[in-house]
Amino acid sequence: MTRDELFDEVILNLDAPIGKVTFTAALEEYYRTFRSEERRRALLVAATIGLVILWLFVLITWATGDDIIVSSDFLPWLAVMASINGLVLGTMVVFILVRSHRVLDATLQITLTIMAAMVCISVWIDRTATGYYGLFAFLLMPLACSTLAPLLFRQALTVTVFADLFFAVLLSVKPGLDGALIGQTALLSLSVSAMALWANWRTDRGERAAFLFLTRERLLSDRSRRRTAELLEMSIVDPLTGIANRRAFEDRFARLATLRRLDGETMAVMMVDIDHFKAFNDHYGHIEGDRCLQRVAQTLAGEMRGPDDFVARLGGEEFVVLAPGIGRAAGESLVERLRRAIERLGIAHEGIAGAGGVVTVSIGCTIATVDGMADPRRVLIDADRALYAAKHGGRNCWRIAEDLGGGPSIGQPPTAAMA
Ligand code: GH3
Ligand code: MG
Ligand code: MG
Repeated sequence: MTRDELFDEVILNLDAPIGKVTFTAALEEYYRTFRSEERRRALLVAATIGLVILWLFVLITWATGDDIIVSSDFLPWLAVMASINGLVLGTMVVFILVRSHRVLDATLQITLTIMAAMVCISVWIDRTATGYYGLFAFLLMPLACSTLAPLLFRQALTVTVFADLFFAVLLSVKPGLDGALIGQTALLSLSVSAMALWANWRTDRGERAAFLFLTRERLLSDRSRRRTAELLEMSIVDPLTGIANRRAFEDRFARLATLRRLDGETMAVMMVDIDHFKAFNDHYGHIEGDRCLQRVAQTLAGEMRGPDDFVARLGGEEFVVLAPGIGRAAGESLVERLRRAIERLGIAHEGIAGAGGVVTVSIGCTIATVDGMADPRRVLIDADRALYAAKHGGRNCWRIAEDLGGGPSIGQPPTAAMA
């Protein structure tokens, strides 16, 4: 059963009028599995209570000097009590060892049915003058099936019907019972069975309703958690290239800037722009243009090495790279590595006469210092200025912003074929 199917069934049942809830086989299976652990624990408690009652009953019989103690019926009667004790202990062991709710249900029903029969036998065995007292003790059986034991309604109904049948047989075969006693105990037994079953039905219904509400809430919160994660992902990932988008970059930049400022380190910030991309689109079409953007993005992302290195698509054919913790020399080798990686992709670009014949990028880089990072916008303006210089320097090259104030520009000189 998938989560969606489960959700639909839960809603369907919650919409049904109270008392008209009908679980399909799949939902029933889910429900029983859902409750099996709690029912297992409930049975262990119920069985312990049952055993305490059993032995208190034996103790009271002995302490009050009941006729049976000195009669020849005593040993068989005690043997039946001991068998009931063994049966309950055996069931407890099964419940401790086995986790399957099917085994749990079957064992519970069989145990209670056998127990009802054994209690009837113990009453039948007792032929003493007060032997009919046991008839009243038997009334605990239907009560235990429906309230103490964690039986679901249908199971409780089945076991109770069997227990009442055994009781009817007992009433008809036990010698020495007069008609009034038979009539009264039969009526008592049926009354207790009906009341206990009614209580069980109401509990079962309430527990199923609680299960439906709880499951709905869990599924809803699970859905909303997954949806939030999806939306978060959508808000920070560029859908075309799958790398980070401008928003993610801004978040990352602000965070790194603060951290690095504290550390007193430097960071390389690079603006990467595909050369003559308009011409590429015009020549090969937008679909090829998109493919080219994807390959460039993935290649840039693949060149990131440090744990904090970061690349994002700012928009169009423009990317930004952050490489925290590196200085001038490492920055230069990274920017050159990026330029070369794109050139080596060898994506044909015949869209512009006189260019190198493959897709290339121009890169503007700035090595931001502690002071520089105090104003993030200034850093980006510097990198942009360097990019502009690289474009003017002939494209397929890079410039470092710090060199632009009159000093010689450093960067890969344009190839002879460049415009
Ligand atoms: P330069 O070398 O000076 O950078 O020239 P350019 O042609 O690359 O620059 P320009 O800014 O004139 O053109 C950018 C082009 O990028 C324009 C637009 O058609 C294209 N573009 C922007 N976003 C997308 C996109 O998502 N997909 C595609 N296929 N093209 C895009
Ligand atoms: Mg461009
Ligand atoms: Mg551009």
